Amino acid sequence: MPTALVLFSSGQDSATCLAWALNAFERVETIGFAYGQRHAVEMKQRPLLRDAIAALRPDWAGRLGGDTVVDLSGYGALAESALTADRAIEMLESGLPSTFVPGRNLVFLSVAAAHAYRRSASALVGGMCETDYSGYPDCRRETIDAMESALSLGLAAPLTIVTPLMRLTKAQTWALAHTLGGDGLVRIILEHSHTCYEGDRSKRHDWGYGCGACPACELRAKGWREWSATGAV
Ligand code: ZN
Repeated sequence: MPTALVLFSSGQDSATCLAWALNAFERVETIGFAYGQRHAVEMKQRPLLRDAIAALRPDWAGRLGGDTVVDLSGYGALAESALTADRAIEMLESGLPSTFVPGRNLVFLSVAAAHAYRRSASALVGGMCETDYSGYPDCRRETIDAMESALSLGLAAPLTIVTPLMRLTKAQTWALAHTLGGDGLVRIILEHSHTCYEGDRSKRHDWGYGCGACPACELRAKGWREWSATGAV
C-alpha cells in the first residue's frame, strides 16, 4: 500500500476522507492550506479534529504521519478579488455562487502533489464531491481526472487522486463516517469539524456548529436530517 496524502481542512468531508484513508493506506500524511481570513476557524479546528480521529483507533494512530500547513495567502488575495466586493453569499450571473474561489482545487492539488512527490506519496485523497455540492466546476471528477493526468505527466511519476466522496450525498457521507469509525467518529465530526462559511462556532445544532443559515450549513444540516431519518443515529 502506498503512502497517501490527505487534503485536510477541518470540514465534514475531509474528516471522513482522513478516516477513509487511515483505513485504506499503511501510511497517511495530511496537508492544509491557509489562504484567507475566513479560514481562521478552520485552521484552529484542524489539529483538534486530526488528533481526535487518530486517537479513535490505535492502528489509525500508528498510521498517521506528519501534517503540513502551506501559506497560500498570496493566492487567496488574488482569488478573493474576483468575488463580489461585499462578499455577500449569493448566486452570480455566471451561475456560480460568490463563494467560488477560482482555481482553488487546481492550486491545492498542484501544491499537494509537490509535497507528495517529496514525501514519496503516490496518492492524494480529497473530499471533492459532485453530488450534494455547490456547483464548483473544480469539484467535478472530470476536472480531477484532468489534474491527475497533468500532474502525473508533469512530475514524471504516477499520481492517483482518490475522491471517496465524489458520488455520495451528504447523508451518505455521514453513513460512511459511521461505517468507518462508528458513533465515536460521528461524535468527533459533530464536535470538531467546521463547515460554516461564516466561521460561526457560537451555535451548536444537532448536526454540529455553524450559523445555520449559510449554504454550507444548510447542506450539512440537510445531510444530517436525511441520515438521522434512517434511524442510524
Ligand atoms: Zn453557516
